[in-house]
Order: sequence, then structure tokens, then C-alpha cells
Amino acid sequence: MNGKNAGQVDDTAPCRRVHRDRPALCLRAAELALIRAHACAAYPRECCGVLTRTRCGAPARAHRCDNLQQQLHDEDPGRHPRDARAAYWIDPQQLYDIIMVSASVGNSLAGFYHSHVDSEARFSSMDQRGAMVLGPEPDYPDAVHLVLSVHGASASGSGPAVTGQRCYAWDPQAREFVPAPLVIVA
Ligand SMILES: [Zn+2]
Repeated sequence: MNGKNAGQVDDTAPCRRVHRDRPALCLRAAELALIRAHACAAYPRECCGVLTRTRCGAPARAHRCDNLQQQLHDEDPGRHPRDARAAYWIDPQQLYDIIMVSASVGNSLAGFYHSHVDSEARFSSMDQRGAMVLGPEPDYPDAVHLVLSVHGASASGSGPAVTGQRCYAWDPQAREFVPAPLVIVA
């Protein structure tokens, strides 16, 4: 499929152009709005989800996941000292199901998203460790991580709001996660 049908506007070209040079995340504005709404709804806990796409450079689709961190913390605070205000743990069964269903229709994993509560949208050292559970390389080396910053009720009485968002991707030369482009298309 090359999207060159007469009269058809290919609005994802900016995505593919950026993605050709380096890892990037492409999202439709409406999909990003759903992710931001998830982050606000989950406040004061971190939200988390999985991103899949039809092909490299195509806009990603968001899949909400349950954050199991609070349950893990409540059951074993010694092993999981952080609660869901400060950490997330994607339900592994949900992750498996999303990846398998996506693969069955030819789609692939684009990345992950999660929120930071009352703090910056910066990929933390804990985030980096969480992305490298299995060894010295990321468990999903091509995955882009979208981090959202959510702050609580303002003095004006409005509810939680997303105040920032950034993407990060693994840089095999630097051997760390570095900022990556977030391309938003209509
Ligand atoms: Zn984080």
C-alpha cells in the first residue's frame, strides 16, 4: 500500500519522514487526546498503556492497560516499595494479548506510554531499569516510550491536567534512552 490513490491525502508523510532517520512516535491528535485523558483519569496514580502500529512510521494506536503497581505494593511493599503514584507495572497478560492480537493482523509494537504524577515528563532511571529487565539491552529495543506529566487540581478548581509529554527511544551508541520525536498528525 503506498497511499498514492488519486484524491487521497497522505497525512502521515511527516511521520514517515522523521521515522526514516531515527526512532520516533507518530500519533494522531485524537489518539493522543485519549492517552492524555487516560493519564488524567488515572490521577493520582500513574497510567500505562501499549502502542501498536500497522507499519514503521505509521500512526500508533493506544491500548490502555491496568497499572498493577498498587496491588503489588499492597501485597509486598518490601519488594515493591513504590505505590502507583510513583510507578507502574503493566499487566503482563494484557501486554501479551495486545502483542499477539496485533501480530495476528500484521501490526507490531510501537512502544509504551505512562504518566508521571506531579512531576516531569522525563524518562527516569527507574523507567530505564524497567525497560531493561531481561538484560543489558532493552527488552523491546525498538519501542518508543511516551511519558506524560500530569498535575493535580489547580487553584482555579479544575481537575488534573497533562502539562507535558515527551518521547524517548534507545540509542545503541550512547547505550541509554534519549529524547525522540513525537510527531502529531491530524
Ligand atoms: Zn516513569
